[in-house]
Amino acid sequence: MAPDDFFDVGYDTAERVAQESRDRRQSSSLGRRFWLPNKAGDDPENPINEARVIFLGGAKNSDGEATSAPICWWEHELKIDSRWGNYFTCTLGHEGQCPFCEKGVSRYYCGGFTIIDTRRWKSKHDGEEHVNEKKFVVFKSDNLSVFHKKQQKRNKGVLMGTLWETMRTGDKKPREGDQWDFIEAVDLSKVLDVNGDPIDTEVLPYKDFLKPASEERASEVLASWTPPQRGGQGPNKSGYGGKSVKY
Ligand SMILES: [Zn+2]
Repeated sequence: MAPDDFFDVGYDTAERVAQESRDRRQSSSLGRRFWLPNKAGDDPENPINEARVIFLGGAKNSDGEATSAPICWWEHELKIDSRWGNYFTCTLGHEGQCPFCEKGVSRYYCGGFTIIDTRRWKSKHDGEEHVNEKKFVVFKSDNLSVFHKKQQKRNKGVLMGTLWETMRTGDKKPREGDQWDFIEAVDLSKVLDVNGDPIDTEVLPYKDFLKPASEERASEVLASWTPPQRGGQGPNKSGYGGKSVKY
């Protein structure tokens, strides 16, 4: 390309940029966060507001082993450019002030686990098939305690390797689903990824996922944020789904 040209010829750069964007999304908390649409969809045989997921574990203990306990933190969610799903870890009490709390953005306490999402789906973007992907499921505190009550009665309280069905029954219900039912304990070595290889059972790198935004990023985000109107719509998403397969 000549120095005075401001364009490229061919597909190479477009493909590289698309790949970089996919990689960024895959390695980010947002791209990995598990959620369900708020309606069943048009196909009664394949409701998109349900999924089967297998738990790999929550927080790690001091020996670096995953436990059945969730990793918990305070979080803010902001609506930016008319879209929810922009999550920021609250730093109040950890690093002194939190820029989001200072601006009056409400926060909530939540707990997360690493799961395998067994839904099989094809990307409309590139036709790629996806199944048994590692995801981050995040429960807000109310839903977390409901889940805890069920979980401790199942599989002797051991969460790893348990298969659950979750359903979201409405747009005001938690995005991770408000109805959680234990199905069975599964042999993780028999759960295969899209290439037919056994899945990686390591829990997600929570520290990377929950890293607070830099000061610059926080100011940039807050500059375009306006407090929600009273009685306004809360987070609400639709348009994604896939059929759960027998892991
Ligand atoms: Zn905060």
